[in-house]
Amino acid sequence: MKLRTGIGYDIHRLAAGRKLILGGVEIPHPTGLQGHSDGDVLIHAVIDALLGAMGDRDIGQCFPDTDPAYKNIRSTEMLVSVAIRLKTNDYDVVNIDSVIVMEAPRLGPHIPAMKDALCPILGLDVRDLGIKAKTHEGMGELGRGEAAAAWATALIVKRDHNRGGKG
Ligand code: MG
Repeated sequence: MKLRTGIGYDIHRLAAGRKLILGGVEIPHPTGLQGHSDGDVLIHAVIDALLGAMGDRDIGQCFPDTDPAYKNIRSTEMLVSVAIRLKTNDYDVVNIDSVIVMEAPRLGPHIPAMKDALCPILGLDVRDLGIKAKTHEGMGELGRGEAAAAWATALIVKRDHNRGGKG
């Protein structure tokens, strides 16, 4: 059984006139995350953790923001393609843990919906995906509500063809 870990981080500015999409879920809020895609920092951090665990480069390499094909792409679609890449390379995801840092709105009530959106894409049980939400205690850009950041770690395992499944 070969285990590999990865870490991911991302930060996006918040701006008026953008939908706030986090963990694949639209959350009512006066500002949303800027980006070439929908700006979903949580998914971007998770993708980088998974790519890092596989020994791949990063999200910018796999989905270049110079490529019009990825303009306004939903980050869940990018996650689907990373899930396919994992499968193709014989990896299963063991678990993912993550933290979103954002001053407002309160994200706690939306976390179950985020898990419902992301777990099926990665073939995870809800207990295999940790999502925590923190504020930045009013400090700096994050604390002033100018941006949102996310960190994620992932543990993946190479599938053993002799034993099948996650063995
Ligand atoms: Mg990003």
